[in-house]
Amino acid sequence: MRCLVLLTLLALATPAHAEHVYESERLRISGDVDEAWIEEAAELGGELFTALERHFGRAPAEAELPLVLVIHPDRASYRKALAAKGVQSDAAHAGGWTFWKTGISHVWVQAEPFDTRRLILHELFHQFHDKVGPSTRRGQGPWWYREGLAEWFGWHRRTKEGLRFGALDAVALNDLARRAALRAKARDFDPWKVAVGKTRKDYVDALALVGGLMLAPDRDLRARFRLWEREMLTRGGGTKAFERRFRERRPALLGAVRLGWSTLGGQWLPREAGWDERDGVISVRKRVGSRLWRVRGPSRESFAQRVEIVTGTEAAATAGLTVALGGTRSVHVFVDAAGVRLERRPPRAVQPADVTRGKLPEGRKTILQVEVDAAGVSVHAQRSDRQVKLFLAETGVRVDTWGLLAMDTGARFRLLPAPSR
Ligand SMILES: [Zn+2]
Repeated sequence: MRCLVLLTLLALATPAHAEHVYESERLRISGDVDEAWIEEAAELGGELFTALERHFGRAPAEAELPLVLVIHPDRASYRKALAAKGVQSDAAHAGGWTFWKTGISHVWVQAEPFDTRRLILHELFHQFHDKVGPSTRRGQGPWWYREGLAEWFGWHRRTKEGLRFGALDAVALNDLARRAALRAKARDFDPWKVAVGKTRKDYVDALALVGGLMLAPDRDLRARFRLWEREMLTRGGGTKAFERRFRERRPALLGAVRLGWSTLGGQWLPREAGWDERDGVISVRKRVGSRLWRVRGPSRESFAQRVEIVTGTEAAATAGLTVALGGTRSVHVFVDAAGVRLERRPPRAVQPADVTRGKLPEGRKTILQVEVDAAGVSVHAQRSDRQVKLFLAETGVRVDTWGLLAMDTGARFRLLPAPSR
């Protein structure tokens, strides 16, 4: 069924550049970019295709295939391709664009690999959706639905079992999902107004609503959402049908959307560039001296987290975990050549110079378990050659956020199940 052809065509006009092409029955991906991007896009597109077939209960007709994606090396060549088709405005500022008339998607390679992958998925989603509708080739449904769902399928996590879509808590510098989580909680957010088109077009609103509906624990609401989607695919329509399906549940909509977002347990907030996530492992790609905060809901009186830390390859070799104890106090647990240390400092007082005390061997593994309760902060650290227990007495503790510290490029973190209390 699947034929895989990966070939390299040397462009005659510019012999220094090579256009790579991937072609199968479902996908055609090409671009004057690193071959790895073509291969990655083919993988992403393949998994997305299967997921969308399941989601919509159908695939585009054979005559509509393959889905076509062009990956540009930079913004300039992306803009040039769009301008050649007469597109100047909004699309030129975006990272990607799908022409629904021709059924061709364009993206350009972003500074962050997560964003490039996200855009590939987002645009291919539009193309698939455009091609499974009832009559026209344009995707069915209101703007917030099309864009919100494209983002839902764009936010992903790479796991051993394959891509997980709708990973709105993925480690990403991109702040769209964080803003959508905040929007869903905002006092003035009204999902009904967004749904019936009474607000201006806004990606944050769109993702807040779609994400909330997809994650909502309210099964009846989720079922109505799915029925409404299927109805659009067979009969078209959109806003009127939404009003009809959801009117009697309108009062429940806001609570359900908020509850949906709260099932994620918070968003990651990278403070410095270069975090990535794969196979359940969060690693530091670049920049020594990074912090990755886990932003959660209301502060809590107790906290427990277990993390496996593996030191990286660069000169500095310190990693750890930091817990913010309400406002002005934070506790930092450092793992470095001196051993395991526990320090109380203001939240943002950690500098690379503070914590780089000698060098740990590359690949050194430490399991760190941090627990906070009314009595204080306990730390258990376990390394192959030793065990360390530390305790810091603190009263009136409330945990706001917590995070990972990396003073070491290439450090890796794996979150382990929290200890049972
Ligand atoms: Zn879009």
